[in-house]
Amino acid sequence: MKQTGQPGPPTDPIIGIDLGTTNSLVAYCDERGPRILEGPDGQRLLPSVVRYNEAIASVEAVGQEASTHAVEHPQNTVSSSKRLMGRSIGDLKDDLDYLPFAVVEGDHNTARIKIGKHLLSPQEVAAVILSELRGWAEATLGTKVRKAVVTVPAYFDDAQRQATRDAGRIAGLQVVRIVNEPTAAALAYGLDSGTANRVSGVGKKEDGSLSLSTKLNPQACASESQSQATNHQPPSQTLAVFDLGGGTFDVSVLRMMQTEQGRIDQVLSTAGDTHLGGDDADRMIVELIQKEVRAQFGEQIEFPASTRQAFRNLAEATKIRLSNETSAQIEVDLGTDGDGNARVYQRTLTRDEFEEMIGLLVDKTIRCCEDALRNAKCKTEDIGRVVMVGGSTRIPLVCRRVGELFYTEPYTALNPDEVVALGAAVQGSILAGINRDMLLLDVTPLSLGIETMGGAVSKLIMANSTIPAQATEMFSTYVDGQTNIKVHVLQGERELVGDCRSLGEFELKGIPPMPAGLPKVEVTFLVDANGVLSVQAVEKRSEKRASIQIVPNHGLTREEVDRMEAESYEHAAQDMTAHRLIDLRNQARLDIRAIEKQLAKVGDEMDADYRAQVENNVAQVKIMADDPGADPDRFHEALDKMDQSTVRLAELAITITLREEQGA
Ligand code: ADP
Ligand code: MG
Repeated sequence: MKQTGQPGPPTDPIIGIDLGTTNSLVAYCDERGPRILEGPDGQRLLPSVVRYNEAIASVEAVGQEASTHAVEHPQNTVSSSKRLMGRSIGDLKDDLDYLPFAVVEGDHNTARIKIGKHLLSPQEVAAVILSELRGWAEATLGTKVRKAVVTVPAYFDDAQRQATRDAGRIAGLQVVRIVNEPTAAALAYGLDSGTANRVSGVGKKEDGSLSLSTKLNPQACASESQSQATNHQPPSQTLAVFDLGGGTFDVSVLRMMQTEQGRIDQVLSTAGDTHLGGDDADRMIVELIQKEVRAQFGEQIEFPASTRQAFRNLAEATKIRLSNETSAQIEVDLGTDGDGNARVYQRTLTRDEFEEMIGLLVDKTIRCCEDALRNAKCKTEDIGRVVMVGGSTRIPLVCRRVGELFYTEPYTALNPDEVVALGAAVQGSILAGINRDMLLLDVTPLSLGIETMGGAVSKLIMANSTIPAQATEMFSTYVDGQTNIKVHVLQGERELVGDCRSLGEFELKGIPPMPAGLPKVEVTFLVDANGVLSVQAVEKRSEKRASIQIVPNHGLTREEVDRMEAESYEHAAQDMTAHRLIDLRNQARLDIRAIEKQLAKVGDEMDADYRAQVENNVAQVKIMADDPGADPDRFHEALDKMDQSTVRLAELAITITLREEQGA
């Protein structure tokens, strides 16, 4: 998309930081909406891990490098410093067993991390992470950064919040606001207001390619947009935020209200487990590998630190792979045994096996949700939205179980590990006063649709539809035996994919092979009251389904929407012609394929004149189809002529097929 005039660096920006137990992120929000600020290598997550030099306690590595080698340097690699911040040594009894580095008592019962002979406060370690993120932000924004909104768990007490502020100060950042993590997640989705919705959030984007095609029957299945007015929204809404990270699990029930004075958010209850998370799943996979390696190569086999590190990294990678695939291959080379024989351990871990392993872990999170609901005096049906936060909510089983509990599809449109930082940035922009002009959304500002064969856009929801809005349309395949269909979701007023904005795509897999045109794919768009778009595709014959959620309106200003609308008027005639040509070409290709099949079958039984006439008509249509500048009216005429001339051919083909079947 073109932009008129590049904005210069913001003056005195307020960044948003998610200071996580496992990973930390930084984000910034301007008029265009919030976005994650990346590190020098394009990384979006900074593992909250710092390795110190043992002798002088200087910082040796921060982030990924420190995390990847943590098991090899257990005594001088500090992770989970967030668990220690603002807590006394007495508070930490339960945590100390989990930490591989030494924690001792400092002044006033405080906890201190011991590196060699040196004592460090947890705030100093957190400050190293905050400084690193500040550096990322300064490099991306091209300006000094001195202010930040930092998020903390809802259950953090005053001492823990104060410690977070102190960590900021050590890192040269004024923490202008501490925001609860669940509140930040809700803000990123624009769920803060009951009457209008702030445009915010960044939709998942992947590169699209096309595959859906011809509509089955545009007349019969015309889009049935059924919009309803939404002026009756309650002034407050209750939501649940489910946050499963690396080592901690929290669920919060929030009430968000919009009043004349601004937003009020109330944490009605929190529940959770400070030692439950993705790390547990990693540990289970490591234990499985170790057990099987011992069974295969003997009980006496030893696992030095580098091997344990490799197990850990492999386990996490396997777990992450199983979020997208139904099985993952594991292979570990354990070197040679005493007799020089190679020892290679191999196995396949299926998603089913993995889900069975983590079943109890997920059960625990569900029980916590029930506790949180009880404490908030809420029933599941009182919960309007469920927001998923934390990298571990990418595990399909987790999402499924949460959806079942709350009878609603959880919000996953924003990356669960980024949503807290994005929300912190939104809060920062509100405090900086730059977010007031953001588009308020009671209507979809731009049309929403999907890509069809040949690069045309089929719109399901038109611009300015009142939300919530829903539309359903039928599509089919274009290629014989097509078993996967890509659904590419687009936003914009223009007719061609290249002129619209790609919002994301997903694949409908496992359709049984059928001739082109036979599968019935029902695509449903639903924009809910918060502007979150869910797109679902169902193949009706096989009942295969797939879906995606998107925040479709990310960072569009009123001017941009106006410009896009104006462009669409300007190009209307030209775009319509292009769209018509694409439709004609698709139709021509389908018809010619059918005619050629029939010719191959019965061509020899046709009289020569008729055959020549058909072939000539087909050739004319092919010329039109290959001509990018074809006149659509003449193309249409040629297509009609071809179709009419082949009626007899089709009848002949049917007669011969019947004759063959009777003869057989
Ligand atoms: P925290 O809030 O505790 O700092 P995150 O929200 O970043 O942590 O979550 C980190 C956890 O998410 C890690 O255990 C990581 O392995 C897990 N994780 C990240 N991506 C995926 C994925 N695609 N599938 C399963 N787990 C994932
Ligand atoms: Mg987190």
